[in-house]
Amino acid sequence: MRAIDLHAHTNYSDGSDPPSEVVRLAASRGAIALAITDHDTVDGLEEARRAAELCGIELINGIEISADYSPGTMHILGYFIDDRSPTLRLELMRLRQSRERRNPEIARRLRELGFDISYEEVVELAGNQVVGRPHFARLMVEKGYARSIKEAFDRFLKKGAAAYVEKERLRPAQAIELIRGAGGVAVLAHPYQLGLSFEEAERLMAELARAGLDGVEALYSRHSPEERSAYAEMASRLGLLVTGGSDYHGSYKPDIDIVRGLGDLSVPYELLEGLRRRAEQR
Ligand code: AMP
Ligand code: ZN
Ligand code: FE
Ligand code: FE
Repeated sequence: MRAIDLHAHTNYSDGSDPPSEVVRLAASRGAIALAITDHDTVDGLEEARRAAELCGIELINGIEISADYSPGTMHILGYFIDDRSPTLRLELMRLRQSRERRNPEIARRLRELGFDISYEEVVELAGNQVVGRPHFARLMVEKGYARSIKEAFDRFLKKGAAAYVEKERLRPAQAIELIRGAGGVAVLAHPYQLGLSFEEAERLMAELARAGLDGVEALYSRHSPEERSAYAEMASRLGLLVTGGSDYHGSYKPDIDIVRGLGDLSVPYELLEGLRRRAEQR
């Protein structure tokens, strides 16, 4: 099967590997197309494009945007976006500023909890790119405050934990509009993270579809086989496309391999054709 991966992070956000490395790795796993979907930034796409040309793999311009949603998490993926769109770039800059207001507050809370963590160290570890909670988690592991990134999240950094700080987010409809406005197609990422029952999730997807959502990431590393088929069936009932990806973050999510996910992921190339047709209709 001609495999693809439509969800991967680089060190321009909270992945550990540079874009060229992520591209090479995807090619070495047999992928013929890859989307780079960093949080709140398109700055890694240029390096990825050059590497993809060398590897002979198709590179899809992507982005992942956090939307305002509670009690779970809602992320919207964008594909085939014009990464030079001034509106997109301006809005991403604003979102990063909101992040940069949140981040020092996380460091402050961690210090209050008794940890020797300065925000400067976190920035340095992130390599001055978009700083995310996984960078805090990594530093906590390096300093012996947690045994794993997952433990750092569970004990301190996840939503509702002691060092969790909200950041300003777009409303779901705004995130969708931002992506479509930049010529892209909008896809609901990893729906299991909404924390909803299947019935509730389908109602929400119907609402998002009315706001312009194009697809649902049913094939996802951490989705069970039941979740993969349930979300794919919802998508088809609602006239939405099905997509899939690993959410590769390198060493920040060490159990997730690019293209293969936890070992059982395989996203067929045909799904990309559907997305492309939608994008071409924009
Ligand atoms: P941020 O955008 O900085 O709030 O961080 C979001 C990142 O943290 C994404 O890469 C998520 O996959 C990761 N993340 C969120 N919750 C958890 C969790 N409970 N365990 C591990 N990683 C998480
Ligand atoms: Zn991430
Ligand atoms: Fe996500
Ligand atoms: Fe992601």
